[in-house]
Amino acid sequence: MTIPGTMMNFPLTLPTILERAGRLFPRVEIVSRRPDSTITRTCYGEMFKRARQFAAALEKLGIESGDRVASLMWNHSGHLEAFWGVPCAGGILHTLNLRLHPQEIAAIVRHARDRFLIVDDVLLPLYEKFRKEVSFERVIVVPFGSASVPHGLLNYEELLADEGDDFSYPAMEENQGALMCFTSGTTGCSKGVIYSHRALVLHSFSLGLQEVFGLNTTDTILPMVPMFHANAWGIPVAAPMLGTKQVLPGPHLGGENLLNLMEQEQVNKACGVPTVWAGILAELENNPGRWKLPAHIFGACGGSAPPLEMIRRLDLFGIEIKHLWGMTETTPVGTGGWLKAHMVDWPQEKKYEVRAKQGWPAPFVEARVVKEGVIAPWDGKTAGELEVRGPWVAGSYYEAPDQAKRWTEDGWFRTGDIATLDPEGYIGLVDRAKDLVKSGGEWISSVDLENTLMAHPAVKEACVIGLPHPKWQERPLAAVVLKDGSSATEQDLREFLGKSFASWQLPDAFVFVEAIPRTSVGKFKKIALREQFAGWKWKS
Ligand code: ADP
Repeated sequence: MTIPGTMMNFPLTLPTILERAGRLFPRVEIVSRRPDSTITRTCYGEMFKRARQFAAALEKLGIESGDRVASLMWNHSGHLEAFWGVPCAGGILHTLNLRLHPQEIAAIVRHARDRFLIVDDVLLPLYEKFRKEVSFERVIVVPFGSASVPHGLLNYEELLADEGDDFSYPAMEENQGALMCFTSGTTGCSKGVIYSHRALVLHSFSLGLQEVFGLNTTDTILPMVPMFHANAWGIPVAAPMLGTKQVLPGPHLGGENLLNLMEQEQVNKACGVPTVWAGILAELENNPGRWKLPAHIFGACGGSAPPLEMIRRLDLFGIEIKHLWGMTETTPVGTGGWLKAHMVDWPQEKKYEVRAKQGWPAPFVEARVVKEGVIAPWDGKTAGELEVRGPWVAGSYYEAPDQAKRWTEDGWFRTGDIATLDPEGYIGLVDRAKDLVKSGGEWISSVDLENTLMAHPAVKEACVIGLPHPKWQERPLAAVVLKDGSSATEQDLREFLGKSFASWQLPDAFVFVEAIPRTSVGKFKKIALREQFAGWKWKS
């Protein structure tokens, strides 16, 4: 007979974190670079007060438990207030990806049945482009400039000014929804994920672990990822829980702007996709000695694989890149790319081999690799589909029954990533299943080819896709952007790759292009590249 524990059944909900941030960390700062580039400073004490006022205002507007409130906002303290105000009023904040086409945004809003909208005044022209295709009951405008809020819309600041400090939270359960995101659609249509309070709380605990992100009260974190992309990797929830100062860059994600914030605020942790880190590296290399950064910055990188060459070069500037692997469906952080204690004295190259991998799973994120229906050994060699499960891994998509096949019968989520697991538990991502080049029954990793090509001194960017081939099913084509003022021929690149790859793995064609198409969150948009090269004729 099992004997129940004698512990309280205490719900894991966001108001507890908000209360704690207000009590324990009232003076910890939130620095925002607003859309007009001005810097504002506020703190968790203010966030606590204003988020509760917003929750009270939403109650007056009639918000009901589970109502979706969409946000169309950049990263700044106002958006952060919405991250807390909406869930603490019992609603679900649905962060809209403002880089999508207006028609796509409208379709997502209709699918999510968003009831209210909160929008930055500078984004009203974007809202106007899809206004007639959606029907928000109320639209709340966050004013930045002096221009008045258009007639019929609500002024966020006026709403807050009408509220005192006597808000009381509605009854809440830990499994109810708090935040909502749609996947960025790199490999297909967007799908909605609703994050429960419980998932967000547990995910925040894990971001505090040294082996994941190690967030704490001595840190200053710069999330260089939009709040609408997988909750800015959970920082808006975890940082107030752990008392971490936040620096929010608004829409300004260029290398110079970010370095400016890093220097001015002495940022020691930052996270972003490889494209953003590449912008930072370019600025550091172009202007050596210009930036006075902290001696060591922990740079978390995910979303796609950072080329090893970039990791090495950022090391020279004291920026230590570590992988965080994750997905919109995993809240999003699932792993941390730290070296284990016994590896610290390993030779440098062996350590880079480990650092190029995606890290090991956080506690309670379980991972397995499945190849042709069989669970693969943790040998670092057998590649198959990565499957995960855990308390902050999605158990379904929002109203998308046709997607049920993404979960196995025994309850694991099929990530669509092809990976290996090594004896130490590190995940090594080979490619996304849809991006692997399937050549004559063998797989070729487009990611490996890209990352090696990007180590060539003349190459700025390289993206490899598989295109149909009459004999081999698919063969790789490399689209290459050269650095300004540099030159390289197809033969040079082939020879360079030939040092690391077998001849059958080398791209059959190299095409020099001006730019690689990107997704709304800065990843290579391989779907667009495949369309561009549809009908490609291989030389026989
Ligand atoms: P989308 O699926 O639309 O691109 P996500 O941002 O959720 O939206 O992308 C998750 C995917 O990003 C993962 O399945 C994986 O392919 C890739 N990814 C995430 N982190 C890493 C990483 N550290 N290294 C390589 N790829 C990564």
